[in-house]
Amino acid sequence: MQNVTLLGATGSIGQSTLDVLSRHPDEYRVFALTAHRQLDALMAQAKVYQPRYVVIADESDYAKAKSLMSETGVNAELLAGPQALEFVSGHDEVHTVMAAIVGAAGLMPTMAAVKAGKRVLLANKESLVMSGKLFMDEVSRSGATLLPIDSEHNAIFQCLPADYRYGQPQASGIAKILLTGSGGPFLNTPKQTLASVTPDQACAHPNWSMGRKISVDSATMMNKGLEFIEACWLFGVAPAQIQVVIHPQSVIHSMVQYLDGSVLAQMGHPDMRTPIAHALAYPHRIDAGVAPLDFSQLLDFSFRLPDFEQYPNLKLAIDACAAGQYATTALNAANEIAVDAFLQGQLGFTQIAVINATVLEKIEPSELESLEAIIEYDGLARMLARQAIDKLRS
Ligand code: NAD
Ligand code: MG
Repeated sequence: MQNVTLLGATGSIGQSTLDVLSRHPDEYRVFALTAHRQLDALMAQAKVYQPRYVVIADESDYAKAKSLMSETGVNAELLAGPQALEFVSGHDEVHTVMAAIVGAAGLMPTMAAVKAGKRVLLANKESLVMSGKLFMDEVSRSGATLLPIDSEHNAIFQCLPADYRYGQPQASGIAKILLTGSGGPFLNTPKQTLASVTPDQACAHPNWSMGRKISVDSATMMNKGLEFIEACWLFGVAPAQIQVVIHPQSVIHSMVQYLDGSVLAQMGHPDMRTPIAHALAYPHRIDAGVAPLDFSQLLDFSFRLPDFEQYPNLKLAIDACAAGQYATTALNAANEIAVDAFLQGQLGFTQIAVINATVLEKIEPSELESLEAIIEYDGLARMLARQAIDKLRS
């Protein structure tokens, strides 16, 4: 029986994780559930899964959460605040932590799980984008087992040889990692008309059902950009060893190209329960509740390369990856502010990339050698992004 902490339980990944866990009650027990604002949803989950701890991110919601808890009849210990998130991540009795908080807020609790040497199921790509080297150094120091949940990285992981050595793709005969992406809802939308798209249009992904922030990132392909950075750190490869390929059907989730001409791909329905089940059970396989692929129905498999004029955010991210940690941290922070402003109706869709580019131009490069320095720099980039948005709107 493995105890599992779910950071971001009420989100899209959190719900899919609970769905997989509920199929294997003899293998996994929910130890802690955490969430930010959706207290009703959190208590409803707690009622079903009966965790030892229920944790809310915001201390000022404690009283409200406490009374909801007794109304719902939930019998767990209620904790609140950033330290409480870290506590349930690093707790001695926890075996596995699903890191599925969205955005930079996921960094510290995910790091707490890494530092405590847990089996870390990483959905929160932002933590790796912000702290790549520190994060990976901590993984090797603590002996944590890091398993990718992002479907592309999970696919790449499955296509790598079992004896793959971090940072040495050539030693395994690997020529390239082919990072696939659907191109999002605006793949065939003329770029001149993108300025007027609405948040709901941007969030209507053709293949995947996800939270709103990552949905907007998929529409701008910033998501693929963050994944590009994530892949460099996870597998220890250089930017030149990764190629982004658009595959609109989202059946192939990524590929590894070998020197002998072989290309290995991982396929499946676009359903996050597959990578979640893979990482939970690795190196074994368990049922994820996902229907098998039906090859009599898979008629159309197509591929093309991304157009950086259609997706300027993708180019910004690839360039930031080459520039270094300061640039990826700044880009991630600026993008969170810009996407939020877009979702609030304060910024146009194509202005997201304008804000991101402005922040990258304005911010001074810096050596970020500690988590504190990263968090401070992240704050600075957010401030520059807010200023750039105010300027655009005035
Ligand atoms: P979501 O918005 O649906 O859920 C986010 C979760 O994080 C919620 O439980 C929310 O309560 C919690 N949260 C939000 N702000 C918080 C804060 N300040 N402090 C603590 N908790 C907070 O997001 P999602 O789509 O489930 O994505 C979660 C993560 O997984 C993201 O990093 C995303 O990039 C990554 N991811 C998601 C998918 C997907 O299919 N949804 C695929 C790959 C990777
Ligand atoms: Mg992904």
